[in-house]
Formats: sequence, structure tokens, C-alpha cells
Amino acid sequence: MDFHSIDNNSARRIAALKQRLDSLKDNDYYFYNQAVQEMLPESKVRVNGRVMGMYASYSYLGLIGHPRINEAAKRAVDKYGTGTHGVRTLAGTLDLHNELEETIANFKHAESAVTYTSGYVTNLTTISTLMGRGDYVFSDKINHASIVDGCLMSGAEFRRFRHNDMEHLEGLLKNAPSEVSKLIIADSVFSMDGDIIDLPRIAELAQKYNAWLMIDEAHSLGVLGEKGTGIEEYFNLYDAIDIKMGTLSKTIPSVGGYVAGKKELIDFLRHGSRAYIFSAALPPAQAAAANEAFKIILDEPERLERLNANTRLFIDGLKGMGFDTLLTETAIVPVLCGTDEKAFELTKRCQEQDVFVLPVVSPAVQEGMSRLRATVTAAHNPADIEYAMDVIYQAGKAMGMVK
Ligand SMILES: *Cc1c(COP(=O)(O)O)cnc(C)c1O
Repeated sequence: MDFHSIDNNSARRIAALKQRLDSLKDNDYYFYNQAVQEMLPESKVRVNGRVMGMYASYSYLGLIGHPRINEAAKRAVDKYGTGTHGVRTLAGTLDLHNELEETIANFKHAESAVTYTSGYVTNLTTISTLMGRGDYVFSDKINHASIVDGCLMSGAEFRRFRHNDMEHLEGLLKNAPSEVSKLIIADSVFSMDGDIIDLPRIAELAQKYNAWLMIDEAHSLGVLGEKGTGIEEYFNLYDAIDIKMGTLSKTIPSVGGYVAGKKELIDFLRHGSRAYIFSAALPPAQAAAANEAFKIILDEPERLERLNANTRLFIDGLKGMGFDTLLTETAIVPVLCGTDEKAFELTKRCQEQDVFVLPVVSPAVQEGMSRLRATVTAAHNPADIEYAMDVIYQAGKAMGMVK
């Protein structure tokens, strides 16, 4: 049977998407899935044969390609090959995995840690293992999709509180039955807005209403705190978070996710979470690379200093030009455009001038809140950041967004 002759809802969704993509491509408004052909120093990349400044990277400390990390990965390949013998529980565990988990536990001021093969899967499996039907999860409205999916998968009652709004959260907590299990969950640094969760208040509420607190540190690991160990260090609240989740794919230039916490919790996840039991272990090169990266964060504190200086330069610069950057305090800097069309047009103009930024449009963000989502890293040269800001400014001015 001809696929295109099937007439049902999913076939109609496929056809609608194709139409949308075709129309974006016709307008030169399609920016996704562009291949990076080469990684160059100072956060530059080759794309479509052109050297561009990369302003869409999560490599906040500029660790991709660090010689010590590359060396660790190569040594691991020479010693163990490129795969494992299966899932962690059976023959897949290497001494490298145990080392990595010990490194993470120490770095996160926790008793123990467990790793998974992606951050996305870490959230799915952790939330759905801990929570179930009849339980209650409370999730910030703009939490990452992997958190939303984990909450839905758990089957628990799903309550969303307004972004970083602790009064709304308290109202929802009050309305939940007192005897049920409760989990409050939020990004530490919000992945689209760059602002920071109010940890002191959310921790107080978790305590008061007898709820677990889970924080996703995808964008704060290596970034927040004087040493970069994360949100506990930033707020000096080392015992506030029960479930400390993070990824190994952003500041840590590898792939995977982790949960750190009390030993009993980690043992429970190791024996109860399906992504650990039914999905293969992290490959040796990626485990070794991640392990080395945690050490470099502590060994090279000047990287975090450069990131902080570049972040201030970028936020203050764009704000000073008149752009709305919402409440960001971190290296994720939204440049609010409004309509999807405007975000696409601004992106196009920036990319034409070799500034690689990307648009985020609805439904990833609320309608009317489409934006560039620009990031800086420790690897950027301040002069290049000035150039990028000037490109964004000239384009924004030509489009009537700023004066
Ligand atoms: C990127 C991200 C994830 C998913 O991590 P991956 O390692 O890319 O699977 C989870 N949570 C947040 C907040 C993220 O930004």
C-alpha cells in the first residue's frame, strides 16, 4: 500500500509538517540540523564551508576537544574497545563506570551517584521509578521536556506551577492530600530563559510539605558556584536537594546523565530503574571523557572566570542595546523577538554575517515569546563577542526591534 494514500490523523500530521518545512525552506528560514564540519579554537566552527562564531553551544567551559579529555577517551578505547558487554546490571559495568560515579558523587557533595546513557532518559526513568499512580508531582511550567515526559510516564497526578512562582507552588501543595508521596521538580537554570530557580524558597516548601526535591542541573553543572560545582554551592545549601540530576552532554563534553543523592536512593534506582536495567552501559570512551572533564573543572578554575566575564559582557551588551533578554543571569541569553517570523529573520541575518545563533519558536516556548537563544562560553574571545553583538544589533535595528 502506498504510504501517502493512508488517510488518518498521523498521516495528516506528517503532511502538515512537510508543508510547514517546505514553506520555511522556501523562505530560507530553515536553520535546524545544519552540520558542523570542523571544530576550531575560540568557539568557532565550520558550517557550510564557512567559519562562524558558535553562539548556540552548551559547552559552557569550552571543554570540547580538551587534550586531557581526548587523551582519556583514546586510552579507554585502547584498553576496552568501543562498546560494553551489555547492560550495567549484567556484564556491562566497567571499572570506568564505577570511577565516574564516584567522581560525580564527590563533585556533587552526595553519598552516591548512578549514570545513564542520556540526560533525557535519566529524567524519564528517575521520575517514573520514584513516582506512580496516586502520587503527586509538581513541575515548573517551563521545565525541560524530559521532565514533563517523565512526569507523564510516571502516571502520577501532574501539577504545573507558574514559572519560578513559589506562591503558586505552595497553593498547589496545600491542595494535595497530605498522605501521598510528593515530588517537586525544576530546572536549576532554565534551558530557554537562563534564569535560576529560587532554591532557598523551593527547598523550604519541600520541607514544609514533606515533598522530595529534584533539581535538573543540565545548565548549571560547571557553571554555578565559585568552583562550578552547581546550584548547592551557589546558594550555599548543600542538603536542600534530595535528587540531584544532571547531564554529561553540556559542560561535560560527553553523553549521558546522572543522579546523585543518598546511598539508599541510588541503590534503589540501580535496581529499580528500567533505563539502567534494560539499556546498555555508557561506552568506555564517553565514561572516561566525562570522568576527566569533572577533574578539569576543578583543576582549571580560570575557565569559569572567563565564562562569567563573557556572560556579563554579553548580557549587559545586549540589554544596553535595548533587547529584552528576560531574567537571564547565565550564559543562556534569550533575545526576545515575539513572532516566529521575526526570530527566523533575525537568525537569517546573523548567520549571513557568520554568527551562528538559532531561533527557538513555539511550541518550544509560549506563542509570542519566540526568540534567539544565544549562548556564550569560556572559549569565546571577548572581541568576537563584541562583533557578534554588533551583528545582532545591526540586524535588530534594520528590523525595527531596537533603536
Ligand atoms: C539537555 C537537557 C536535558 C537532556 O540531556 P541530554 O543529555 O541532552 O539527553 C535534560 N534536562 C535539561 C534541563 C536539559 O537542558
